[in-house]
Amino acid sequence: MGKALIIGAGGVANVVVHKCCQNSEVFEEICIASRTESKCIAIKDSVKDTKTKIQTAQVDADQTEEVVTLIRQFNPDIVINVALPYQDLTIMDACLETGVDYLDTANYEPPETPKFEYKWQWAYREKFKDAGLTAVLGSGFDPGVTGVFSAYAMKHYFDEIHYIDIVDANAGDHGYPFATNFNPEINIREITAKGRYFEDGQWVETEPLEVKKVYDLPEIGPKDIYLLYHEELESLAQNIKGIKRIRFFMTFSEKYITHLNVLENVGMTSIEPIMFEGKEIQPLQFLKAVLPDPASLGPRTKGKTNIGCIIQGIKDGEPKSYYVYNICDHQACYREVGSQAISYTTGVPAMIGAKLVLEGKWKKPGVYNVEEFDPDPFMEELNKQGLPWKEDFNPTLLD
Ligand code: NDP
Repeated sequence: MGKALIIGAGGVANVVVHKCCQNSEVFEEICIASRTESKCIAIKDSVKDTKTKIQTAQVDADQTEEVVTLIRQFNPDIVINVALPYQDLTIMDACLETGVDYLDTANYEPPETPKFEYKWQWAYREKFKDAGLTAVLGSGFDPGVTGVFSAYAMKHYFDEIHYIDIVDANAGDHGYPFATNFNPEINIREITAKGRYFEDGQWVETEPLEVKKVYDLPEIGPKDIYLLYHEELESLAQNIKGIKRIRFFMTFSEKYITHLNVLENVGMTSIEPIMFEGKEIQPLQFLKAVLPDPASLGPRTKGKTNIGCIIQGIKDGEPKSYYVYNICDHQACYREVGSQAISYTTGVPAMIGAKLVLEGKWKKPGVYNVEEFDPDPFMEELNKQGLPWKEDFNPTLLD
């Protein structure tokens, strides 16, 4: 049916590649590209038994012209951007220049400002619409599936949604005293920032990790969860009409928080460049270099993730609550595709979003967040592609 150019060769890209190759009737050809082609070749070599033709290429996606040249050579129907958020705009520019659809899993962030905002990518709406091209933003798990869950609840179960709590729990244990599950730079930038949630039409700010609760989640057990700002809050606050409050919570163990506090106190999480032995370095980037590579955690990580949405609102004049979630087992993911559940829960939805665009089910000229598409085909695919979901119509975790 089509060809996909996959940019990035990290943990998430590895999953996207394996999942595309399990859906060869849709992804007839793929090209994996990043700055270091050897990483792309290693992913290619790890795929066994597929009808999908796989190529690799070297590209620096910070350079629009390099992406344009690669797109002209490979001629894909869609670009799946699973590099880093810094490359979103250069890749979107290349897609516009060459007339190709676009999908990513994280919103653009300027390298020098740790600020998650959609404004830069939403500014491309008219350009994509006029070009007849589709751009799907944030098709990972969160953002991604959490937006699809919200849209599905709205479509099938509620007349009005008033409250959404997104709860992202990871009970995986990799055996290291401290390591981050995905790109450490992005992860640490996310949790050392102030917390923020949307209530009664405005944003309420908290100190970093100020709001803490203990939630007893299905198949995970009681865990400390902390309120964070997360990028899907921005789009969901706009796209779920009549929403009164939306918050995002993530689990962190006490051990993790202790390490993080120390690293922060000694200045290791700073993105302000410093001079070291005559060379300018960014402490956070240096920290990333000494921490375990997230891709190496796969074989060591045991346990499960549980990510879902707890939703409250009104149906037929009556108050209603609904909890929809996915449980994912780190070791099962590793056995299947050679990556742990954090990469798996991001890579599978990225493949599904791209599949729906190629099949025409999510083809809609413009720039859209996932909750702006029909959630039904995506929910169906989640069940088929390894991320089955469960529903609870009497959730106890209400607040
Ligand atoms: P990794 O750091 O493991 O991989 C990133 C990849 O991007 C590397 O392979 C790197 O390869 C490539 N890359 C970096 N810069 C460039 C560039 N200039 N040009 C081309 N390739 C580049 O990250 P992950 O795989 O863990 O995450 C990928 C994306 O997924 C990130 O944007 C992350 O924020 C997002 N994510 C989204 C989640 C969600 O639920 N929505 C959850 C987790 C992650 P090389 O060095 O060879 O260029």
